Amino acid sequence: MAAAAYEVRSTRYPVQAFRCDSSKPLHHWYATPDPADPWVEVANLEATLPGHECPDEIIQLVSHKDSMSWIDSPGAHDNTTGTVANLELARVLSGCRLRRTVRWLFCNEEHTPWTSLFAAQEAKARGDRLMAVLNVDGLDGKPDAEAQAGRLLHVVGYSTEEGRPLAELIAATAKRAGLALEVTVFRKEPVNDDDGMFIRAGYPTTVMNSGSFPYGDAEYHLPGDGPERVNIENLRQSTQLLLAAIWELDQQASFTL
Ligand SMILES: [Zn+2]
Repeated sequence: MAAAAYEVRSTRYPVQAFRCDSSKPLHHWYATPDPADPWVEVANLEATLPGHECPDEIIQLVSHKDSMSWIDSPGAHDNTTGTVANLELARVLSGCRLRRTVRWLFCNEEHTPWTSLFAAQEAKARGDRLMAVLNVDGLDGKPDAEAQAGRLLHVVGYSTEEGRPLAELIAATAKRAGLALEVTVFRKEPVNDDDGMFIRAGYPTTVMNSGSFPYGDAEYHLPGDGPERVNIENLRQSTQLLLAAIWELDQQASFTL
């Protein structure tokens, strides 16, 4: 981010690793830490591309940058894909004259507490106008059958009525941008993940971008979530879709979805 001329703001928080409970379902072995377990300091990293016409209107991009704390997983899909997508978006947009402000948050979600909640609450306390929040988590993560069939998938999940038109805008953007991605929109019932933290803080126009829903990667939260299983073409097109969606959101005359 610094190499792309961004000033990176680092805010530190104490978190704990999850404990591992292998009696739970395979992909969900994380368990609540003991209060006496060690605390470690992690950092939210934030950077901003200031808008030139409506700088107070912010398009917020989010990805958690940590991998699993309870199991030795490299976290290639979850969430190196989202992290590199956001890094690439920052690189491509660096120096661009956009109307609105674009802001990035790289946070921690595989430790507890989730640090996206702090960033969201601090934004609300400052009165920041986050017009759209796009969480990017688990791009290209999909069931083996879909991967073997070579399908390029992207799913946009929303958990609020305000999130639905944002999800639909992103899906429609894929067609306009001529991408080969199959994009679907889904209603994501539980308000959770990093997008849920922004919704809970009072930012309902929030969605999550992922490779499938329900999340179908066979190596989800397991040691096999390695880079050799990532379809780079899917990741590339999902990143292009996000770039096109940012452009669409930036060009709208008024920010009513
Ligand atoms: Zn994740």
